[in-house]
Amino acid sequence: MDDETWNKEVRYVKGVGPKRAERLAHLGLETVEDVLFYLPHRYEVRKPVPTISKVRPGEEQIVEGEVHGISKRRSQSGTDMVEAEVMDRTGRIAVTWFHMPYLADKFEEGDEVQLAGEVEVMGGNIQMTHPDFRLMSEEEDREALRTIEPVYSVTEGIGQTLMKKIVRNSYEEVKDDLSSVLPEELRQQEHIQSLPEAIRSVHFPESEQEADKGRQSLYYFQALCFFLIVEEYRRQLKQQAITGEMLVGDTLDRRIRDRFPFSFTDAQERVVREIREDYRSGTSMYRLLQGDVGSGKTVVALYAMLVAIAHGYQTCFMAPTSVLARQHYQTIGQYLHDSEVQFELLTGAVKGERRSEIYQDLREGNLDIIVGTHALIEEEVTFRNLAVAVIDEQQRFGVRHRSRLLEKGESPHVLVTTATPIPRTLALTLYGDLDLSILDEMPPGRKPVVTALRKRAKLPEICQFIRGRVRAGEQAFFVYPMIEESEEVPMTSAEEMYQKLTEDVFPDIGVALLHGRMSEQKKRTIMEQFHQGEIQILVSTVVIEVGVDVPNATMMVIDHAERYGLAQLHQLRGRIGRGKKQSYCVLLSDRTGGKARERMEIFTSTDDGFEIAEEDLRLRGPGAILGTEQSGAPVQDLFEIGKHPEIIRRARQDAGKIQEVSPDLTVYSELRKAVERRKEETIRFLRSG
Ligand code: ADP
Ligand code: MG
Repeated sequence: MDDETWNKEVRYVKGVGPKRAERLAHLGLETVEDVLFYLPHRYEVRKPVPTISKVRPGEEQIVEGEVHGISKRRSQSGTDMVEAEVMDRTGRIAVTWFHMPYLADKFEEGDEVQLAGEVEVMGGNIQMTHPDFRLMSEEEDREALRTIEPVYSVTEGIGQTLMKKIVRNSYEEVKDDLSSVLPEELRQQEHIQSLPEAIRSVHFPESEQEADKGRQSLYYFQALCFFLIVEEYRRQLKQQAITGEMLVGDTLDRRIRDRFPFSFTDAQERVVREIREDYRSGTSMYRLLQGDVGSGKTVVALYAMLVAIAHGYQTCFMAPTSVLARQHYQTIGQYLHDSEVQFELLTGAVKGERRSEIYQDLREGNLDIIVGTHALIEEEVTFRNLAVAVIDEQQRFGVRHRSRLLEKGESPHVLVTTATPIPRTLALTLYGDLDLSILDEMPPGRKPVVTALRKRAKLPEICQFIRGRVRAGEQAFFVYPMIEESEEVPMTSAEEMYQKLTEDVFPDIGVALLHGRMSEQKKRTIMEQFHQGEIQILVSTVVIEVGVDVPNATMMVIDHAERYGLAQLHQLRGRIGRGKKQSYCVLLSDRTGGKARERMEIFTSTDDGFEIAEEDLRLRGPGAILGTEQSGAPVQDLFEIGKHPEIIRRARQDAGKIQEVSPDLTVYSELRKAVERRKEETIRFLRSG
């Protein structure tokens, strides 16, 4: 197949032109290929009805009759209207078309027509407004009215009818030239349609099943191209590591493990093995380590760093905020006390001479570990021999930040850690360039947080409970969606609750307010006081989501809980249950039904981050979870495809097989062209963030 045909600009497709092309660009449609991969967002299924007497109001139907009494007029607002009656032996339908004055001349008295659309009944009269139609006498009217009709997401200036025409004309461009893009054996084995078949099935299906099969086939094709691109990209990333092989003998392994006052969980053992395999390969590790807060990621990351240090290399650990960087620094410090390993913290707060010293020590190789924020990617930071970079991504930093850090070494090993569990299939696409490791097991002895859903009127009782535990020395969070009261949204705010708690409910207990509009200094002071136990109750907005580690905080009340997504609730709850004592989380909400209710119920039933993420994916879809901005069509498709784990899994596997046979796809020249056409956008997607 000719690249030129697929790449043909949509403006040159029959019936488009520059103006409409501009509109289509708003939908991300620039080429013939874009249009053909622009899938209907749903289908209208129309039931053929034998006679007019059998039509049912409110349903999409197809019915036949003779046209009579055609007339044309212009409404007061200037709209051209054509009105007619369509009748058979059993009844009549009043029909109106808009903006199509020429129809008055097209139809003649007594013409047989088919109408398709929704029927309304008004005052005993049946009517159809702007139905699709077909003149039975017109042979060249190729398109018989379909019993299943695609509905596209359209935009201003591009209506449904026009969109369908553009799709049809784009298809005409390629249809004689649609050679087999997919390797035939793969097609057979995966039971999918060929590309031309799939495109036809999706846009011009005869049945819902056919449309569905076409969609699955196109999804598979898109996913296959994606993974072929990602695999190639990965091969480029995984260059020879400067370290060469780093082997871990028994002695070194024992020496490192002795640093930890516990034995690793099975999950940690597994991931450590995976990392050691990477080190042995001689090419750079490029790995994502996912695990809930507290699952022991930092411990694993430190193991990975200590191996490199034992081989004489430097390592770094980058965190998204200074609070988190300091925490990692302290944690690492605990494990490394009285060791010879040299480590430092570098954040924006480190200034002047101290900072210059750190720079110098890094350059000269006197520091083994540098923990820090984005400060680490500043130009002044240079290493003598950086071999391992650990990057803690709260949200997805994106490869842009990552690669700036990696440039500080020569193909260092990379371990990205994240506490935001992402369903596996989604992770495969989102972090397609990384290998996946998962810590799906908590260290022993951790008590799951007891979680309950309560009506808001129960607040007084809950406060009684909290009072009891605060007396026993424990601490609590109250979380509110808004800082202050607002006219528009009748909800309790953090400030309101703070007033109420300090004045009425807990006048004798230390209560503080924390929110995002406070200065960094103020926030830090309050957190410090909470940490020290000078404050027992913290009323806050979601600012506490990130980087709070107070093992003594055992209670959390999340008011207006219906306002939060599952992932966010999970992050919030991760702030408690960090110590040895039993923790409690109460969701307050008066919502009795709907998706929000379902979310909250799921949340009370599990604290497994991956399970929660899977549910979130099911309830809200990939786009909502990732909060993606408007991106190009292929990338949007990927999120759709993310809902079909089976397709993702198969496509990924097949991409691997294809590359084994022919790494550069020379054997599959058509497929290679399709891949090339998608490459730029896909890599841009991988690198964005
Ligand atoms: P994460 O980085 O995933 O949040 P950490 O590595 O910081 O988790 O570990 C969380 C807590 O659990 C720390 O206090 C750590 O000492 C402890 N921990 C980690 N691994 C184990 C283990 N295998 N057994 C017992 N405690 C562990
Ligand atoms: Mg940690």
